[in-house]
Order: sequence, then C-alpha cells, then structure tokens
Amino acid sequence: MTAAIRLEGLEKVYAGGKRALDGISLEVPRGSMFGLLGPNGAGKSTLINILAGLVMKTGGTAEVWGFDIDRHPRNAKASLGVVPQELLFDAFFTAFETLELQAGLFGVPKERRRTMELLKKVRLDDKAHAYSRTLSGGMKRRLLIAKALVHNPPVVILDEPTAGVDIELRQMLWAYVRELHAAGTTVVLTTHYLEEAEELCDRIAIVNHGRIVADSDTKSLLAQAREKWVQVTVADDIATVPAIEGVTRVELLDSRRLDILYDKQTVQAGAVLARLQAAGLSVVDVTTREADLEDVFLELTGTPLNGG
Ligand code: ADP
Repeated sequence: MTAAIRLEGLEKVYAGGKRALDGISLEVPRGSMFGLLGPNGAGKSTLINILAGLVMKTGGTAEVWGFDIDRHPRNAKASLGVVPQELLFDAFFTAFETLELQAGLFGVPKERRRTMELLKKVRLDDKAHAYSRTLSGGMKRRLLIAKALVHNPPVVILDEPTAGVDIELRQMLWAYVRELHAAGTTVVLTTHYLEEAEELCDRIAIVNHGRIVADSDTKSLLAQAREKWVQVTVADDIATVPAIEGVTRVELLDSRRLDILYDKQTVQAGAVLARLQAAGLSVVDVTTREADLEDVFLELTGTPLNGG
C-alpha cells in the first residue's frame, strides 16, 4: 500500500539562498497519527507549504495519497487538508459562508457539501450565521479545522493546532483530532508541545536544520533516550554530595535526598544503589524517572523545545 505522504530527497532553497529543506525523505503511513517536531526554523512550515502547493520545492519529490505534486497537482491537493497556524479569515463572511466558499474553491458540487454537518462536528452550528470576525479564538480555530475538511481529504495536516490555547480548548481539540483519526483520516500534526506528540501520535519524526534526525514509532523514540534519573532518600543527613562512580551527575536536593542522573545503557539502577551503599549511605526510599520526549529531543537536536 502506498504511503499517505511520501517525500524523497525534498529540498527547498529560498530565493535569498537559505536552505530550508536539505533532502527530506519521509513516509507517513496511511491511517497513522504522525507528529512532526522541530525547533523554530527547522523547516516544518516550508514542508507543509510545499505539500499545500504554496511554496515551490527546488529539489526532490513529494506525493500525497500516491499523487505526485508535480504530475498530479489537482489530485494531490484534493487529497490534503491543511489547518494553518494563523487565525486568518475574511472578516465579511459568516462561518457558513466561509465553508461554502472553501468548498467552491475545491470544486465540491453543492449537493455534496456538508457545511452544516461540519459545523455541527466542530460544535459551531449555533454560530453558522455569525461573522467569523466575531468568533472567539477557540471558535476560529475550530472553524479552520472544518474549513480544511470541506473536500473530505484522506490526509489532514494540522500546523500547531493547540499553540496558545487554554487547557480546556486543548482537550477539546485533542478529542476532535482523535475522532478524526478514529474515523480513518491520516493525521499529521506539528507541535511545540512534546506532551501533545507523546499523547496523540503513534509515529514521530524530528526535523532539525532541514533534515530528519529521527523517525520512528513513539515508543522506540522514547526508548532512545539514554539518560535516566533515580532519586533516593537516605537515613542520615548528608552534608556533601558523595562521589559515585559511573554516573553522569549527582545533586543534593536537601539534606536527605539525592537526585542521580545516569546513562541506562552503561549502568543499571541496582548498581547505582549498590555504589551508594558502598559509599556508606543507607538508602530508605527510591523513585526513578524515565527520560521523556523532551530529553530525546534535546539529545538529538541540542535545542530544547519550548512549551510542553
Ligand atoms: P519552521 O516552520 O520549522 O519554524 P520554516 O519552514 O518556517 O521553519 O523556516 C525554515 C527556514 O527557512 C528558516 O531559517 C526560515 O527563516 C527560512 N524561511 C522561511 N520562509 C522563508 C522565505 N519565504 N524566504 C526566505 N527564507 C525563509
């Protein structure tokens, strides 16, 4: 079966000479919920804009639902819905008209339009005839999602769907994205919130400086994180940080608690504890923490991703 999106050596050098994409090869499997992560300037928007037909690539190939964007641009476009980051609308149209207009642009015949059904889905049916400029930020975001779906595309890309929204709306958007995915749509989302990618995506690719630095299922990506923390409580007060062989870092949290960072590929928690005992410390309590996506991200790109 062909991929939902397939990129092969995709390149973009902007007019000024900036190499935004430096040979991206990537496959988004059909039916997946795919996370595209990367620090600011990594090339995510450029990639999305090429697929959406808004930016011309300067090298490589791209396919959406098996349609090459050069050879079958109409079919490629018809297969893709993009939910942009900016809340831009024509202020003089109502929510209903906004969707009707978009359907017209995509050549969806009147009898096949689902305008009210879509508005209901994003819980905006009671706002159908309100001007889009009068909608709240959250409502505008939901209208943008509906707008990306008017032509019923099998692949939907959401660019930072929850950037700057409050927790309640984020939960609602997550629920909606899950519903979309459960109904069979392939979903790609870019996000700054690692927690969001961890929570929603079954596969994650990390882009840095226009290149793919990681591409795997979420579980194995998390397993790539080598560092692990163990926090121990000891029976007696300690004044100075003990030297423990073979660990990355030891920090004194308070007089009886230590935070120890170690590389789980070279040493195990049991050995760390044994070394503590050998240093004369009597351990009374232990908790461990696995590295999360944020740690993996930092390790791979050297850049922390803000938010999350
Ligand atoms: P992201 O979406 O991951 O933040 P972008 O695709 O927006 O990254 O940008 C990738 C790189 O390309 C950045 O260095 C950015 O400054 C540059 N860039 C983006 N758009 C243009 C443009 N129209 N002209 C020149 N450079 C651009």
